[in-house]
Amino acid sequence: MSRKAKAVLCRELNKPVVVEEISVDPPKRGEVTVKLGACGVCHSDLSATNGTIPLPSPLVLGHEAAGEVIEVGEGVTAFAVGDHVVSSFIYMCGRCRFCSLGRPVLCVEQGKALTTLPDGTLRTRDAKGQPVNIFSGCGVMAEYATLHQDNVVKIDPKIPFDRAALVGCAVTTGVGAVFNTAKVEPGASVAVFGCGGVGLNVIQGARIAGATQIVAIDSNESKLEMARKFGATDVLAAKPGEDPSKQIKKMTAGGPEYAFECVGSGELAGAAYRAIRRGGSAVIVGVAKPADSTSFRSMTMVFEEKTLTGSYFGSCVPKVDFPRMLELYAGGKLMLDELITRRYKVEEAPQAFADLESGRNARGVIVF
Ligand SMILES: [Zn+2]
Ligand SMILES: [Zn+2]
Repeated sequence: MSRKAKAVLCRELNKPVVVEEISVDPPKRGEVTVKLGACGVCHSDLSATNGTIPLPSPLVLGHEAAGEVIEVGEGVTAFAVGDHVVSSFIYMCGRCRFCSLGRPVLCVEQGKALTTLPDGTLRTRDAKGQPVNIFSGCGVMAEYATLHQDNVVKIDPKIPFDRAALVGCAVTTGVGAVFNTAKVEPGASVAVFGCGGVGLNVIQGARIAGATQIVAIDSNESKLEMARKFGATDVLAAKPGEDPSKQIKKMTAGGPEYAFECVGSGELAGAAYRAIRRGGSAVIVGVAKPADSTSFRSMTMVFEEKTLTGSYFGSCVPKVDFPRMLELYAGGKLMLDELITRRYKVEEAPQAFADLESGRNARGVIVF
């Protein structure tokens, strides 16, 4: 039996999101239906509504959610009704070279479940019975969603849904970039460009990893205040369009060992690379527009042995990293409560997107 669910949709590009009642079909083989408790509103959702990430409409948004399994399909043994889960927006085939290497974010089959379930079909229909696409194999900004079992991760049921949801994207992207991609070690110095949802998590990841100097850079002073709360030891108010790398070098006695670009700007990626000291690593975390590019003096890479690398979804293994993040939260190390600026009812989704766009929120969360 299919279920009626209020859902947040992108109907038309560059128009506000709409809240509609859709129907969600029960799980087929290898799938589960989840009653969502909360879904974070992420910059990638916004990017899907304005064409930065080009995807076909209509589209159920949402890829950072937590909820409870209420029905399991045939052949599902790892999940049972009543399990609490967090959605995972990467599809992993489990067989390719990268999945075998334990790097599922690089799975060669990734494109398979961009706007559908991995088998290419949908369980979501609108009031007219027309199929509705789902964002990144998830579409979890809705009261119910049917997901492939590889796109959900079981979590400790003691963690509230609104906090748990955040590890589905922002937290893992930021903290994972520090732990898994850069492998920041105790005593390191770190610079973080951009203090939004992801940047704050890079900052707290660096704090948990034991970095002793953490420089936060943003053009918005109120975000720098937040950055201090999450562990920044130094802050730098950068003027848009100005290269802050020289000033960062001064603040860190010759440059940080690690710099993280969390804005999605080629210009800042270049600044991050210039800022790091000899032997340092610049990690690009922010997703830039497709036409954006960066440049650097390639000779410095040789003589200064600098590293420029990217980090997608914190180089994570969802089934390992989501529970690990939530254990850090339960142990009082990872700050999740403080990340949530505002909770919205599903009907308030257009406001949640407007607040995201204006940079008002560390994280806005829709609660069902
Ligand atoms: Zn996201
Ligand atoms: Zn694979």
